[in-house]
Amino acid sequence: MRPEKIGIIGSGLIGRAWAMLFASAGYRVVLYDILPEQVSTALEEIKKELHALEAKSALRGTYSVAQQLSFISGTVELSELVSNAIYLQECIPERIEWKRKLYTDLAAIVGAETIIGSSTSTYMPSLFSEQMTSHRENVLVAHPLNPPYYIPLVEIVPSPWTIPEFVTRTRDLMLEIGQKPVTLTREIEGFITNRIQYAILNEVWRLVADGVVSVADVDRVMTEGLGLRYALLGPLETAHLNADGVSDYFQRFGGEVYAVSQTYGPTPKMVAGETLSKIAAECEEMVSREQLTKRREQRDRFLYELSALKKKFH
Ligand code: NAD
Repeated sequence: MRPEKIGIIGSGLIGRAWAMLFASAGYRVVLYDILPEQVSTALEEIKKELHALEAKSALRGTYSVAQQLSFISGTVELSELVSNAIYLQECIPERIEWKRKLYTDLAAIVGAETIIGSSTSTYMPSLFSEQMTSHRENVLVAHPLNPPYYIPLVEIVPSPWTIPEFVTRTRDLMLEIGQKPVTLTREIEGFITNRIQYAILNEVWRLVADGVVSVADVDRVMTEGLGLRYALLGPLETAHLNADGVSDYFQRFGGEVYAVSQTYGPTPKMVAGETLSKIAAECEEMVSREQLTKRREQRDRFLYELSALKKKFH
């Protein structure tokens, strides 16, 4: 086991996944939760999950399950968790007032060299660190995608006051545990992933609302079309390859991209109503609620196989 300690704050779905990722790289991991029973539940869940991963030959890292388990422990004291940790990964629920309270408490106990990365999917780091009386410069966002064990992307987002060296250190740490970080130069609503994801959702919603395409078919555009490419190439490299380089692509097709984009409708409000009922009914036809767990397992298995395939194709 490596001597450096990583603290996980919040032992739910994402906290457990981070604990497993850090342990897979040999870090000493300590889990904390505001509910003491949640810490023991999390340790039990991790044990089950690591054994299940081993059985599927999907365990990450070079350490055995027994070794990885021995790297992870729990505490019910926040001060004990924070003490001597090089890095804290915060994974408490997406409630801004809870996050602000926690970061206010952390300000009083965190060391000057301890980085605090938040898993938040939606809040810019300044929103929950601005009120801290000290060490707010230690805070940044390290946003994973679910499930983090299979999807390696982590978005690292600094606030205006985050120490740049801490951004670099977090990026190095993510690489070391086998994740694939991207670094934003400044905070922005939705970071990058959700800005792109929401742009897609907006257009999908509009197309279904306007009756242009069915729910199953619009999803198929991704699963049988764009998504296959995007597992290897991003949109810009795709353009680069689809012409004689990216400059040629935009010279030839930029006008068309602009013309089609001018026809997009306004941003839809995704609230209860006719469109949502239609989407819900058709989604249920594709996967009933009872089948969701099974389909999630299939997704995880697929992502694992895909990550193995991706390693062959850089
Ligand atoms: P969760 O509800 O599964 O777990 C949250 C845990 O935090 C619970 O065990 C709860 O008891 C504990 N908790 C609550 N207040 C606390 C406090 N003050 N101190 C310590 N522990 C506290 O939530 P989750 O799905 O793991 O999400 C955690 C964070 O990760 C959120 O910010 C969420 O936006 C982000 N995230 C979630 C996903 C996802 O798909 N679930 C994906 C990416 C990022």
